[in-house]
Amino acid sequence: MKYDKKNIYLLLATLIIGIISLNPHTAFAVDSAEEVETDELEDIEYDTNDTDGVFLDMDVTPQEYDSSVYTSALSTVYLEETSDSTQELSLFTDHSITPEQIKINADEENGVLTCVFPNTYNAIGEWKKSIDNSYVKNISVASTGTDITVTVKYQSKYVLSTTYDEYGIVVTFSSVDYSMRLQLPEEITKAQIKDTDYYYDHKFVLTLPGKWKNFYEQHPVISRNNVITSIQITQSGNTTRITVKTSRLQGYKYEQKGDYLLVKINDPRKIYKNIVVLDAGHGGKDFGATSRGAKEKNINYKIIYTLAKEYFNSQTSDVKAYWSRYNDKFISLSARARFASEVKADLFVSLHMNSAPNTRANGIEVYYARSNNKTSSMGLSSRTLAQRMHDQLEENLSIPSRGVKKAEFYVLRHNTVPAILIELGFISGNQDHGKITSASYQKKAAENIYNCISNVFKTYLTGR
Ligand SMILES: [Zn+2]
Repeated sequence: MKYDKKNIYLLLATLIIGIISLNPHTAFAVDSAEEVETDELEDIEYDTNDTDGVFLDMDVTPQEYDSSVYTSALSTVYLEETSDSTQELSLFTDHSITPEQIKINADEENGVLTCVFPNTYNAIGEWKKSIDNSYVKNISVASTGTDITVTVKYQSKYVLSTTYDEYGIVVTFSSVDYSMRLQLPEEITKAQIKDTDYYYDHKFVLTLPGKWKNFYEQHPVISRNNVITSIQITQSGNTTRITVKTSRLQGYKYEQKGDYLLVKINDPRKIYKNIVVLDAGHGGKDFGATSRGAKEKNINYKIIYTLAKEYFNSQTSDVKAYWSRYNDKFISLSARARFASEVKADLFVSLHMNSAPNTRANGIEVYYARSNNKTSSMGLSSRTLAQRMHDQLEENLSIPSRGVKKAEFYVLRHNTVPAILIELGFISGNQDHGKITSASYQKKAAENIYNCISNVFKTYLTGR
């Protein structure tokens, strides 16, 4: 086929029109000097159907601009899906730019991010764009004097983090499941935060070093779970406490994501892989056995609450412990067994000290109830748990064994999960009394109770 000049021009013109209609970059008029309210900007027509994960791709080579006025030119606005749960927005200039040159303000509650680039030439023009099926709802670029303001409206349930690049910034929007979100002051990382679970009062407290009450007035903690009934920020001395109350007993865990701490709150089984209820026998008006000034209730409590807590609540522990008794209070046997089902524990371990009229009676016994000895979903029976606990303590505490025994104790009989009762030694015993009242022995007992439970969970998996 033969073309004459006229036909070639016609063909070129068609191609150019085609390119203009396909390529959005060339469709924007550059008009940087005027002040423009972003709401007044015209919504541009832009085909986003064929994006292949790219929602917006504006990348222009800036025309010459006055470098005595502008230090760089905004030349790229690029929004891309980077994984199933993240999108990245890149805002780049043609010259390298330092983080201090970009002013970022995020209104996380309403999902509005503004980035101001001072002394920046607007190479891509003034525009506003709505984006469908995206975490980002719309983006606008507007100039005010020699500044460019990029305003991004996004769905506030997504979490935003920004990283600086030599040529600008990359904003990451992540879809993360959380119940509560708090911004972390710049100096604070997750490692500095301590938490205390007051599960019996249906609340937990996050403690941050420093005075951050004002900070959290400016950056409110965001709650996305109806189970949260209140979030209170208090400051005393050089410590800030965030107290979270829930309408029922809940588990919680948290992770740091960028500048945020994301807290998940849910039923204990949805949060914790392994759950044990530890039961310090007796309490309050019920002393248990007594001998030579020692009360059984106090020894039980010291070992399985005060000392064991250090192990179960340590950073390396993968066992969540709930205590049926957390102070010197009388608690009925039925309430103890009921508590295990309330938290949906995987195991129940009760601690007692034995007593006998004959002071020569010494040694350890571990009980289980025949009526509660079916193999649990973990593949563990009460009898096996009793045997393992017995062996662990006998071996490491050098205490004589009186064996694994069966008894229909109320707290064992009324449990539906593997449940045991440890009679660690005789408070009345001529050998045991000195041991079970000694601080070092008590600590060793607590450590071995923890080790046994932790190892049992490693052998018998809950599958959570
Ligand atoms: Zn007892």
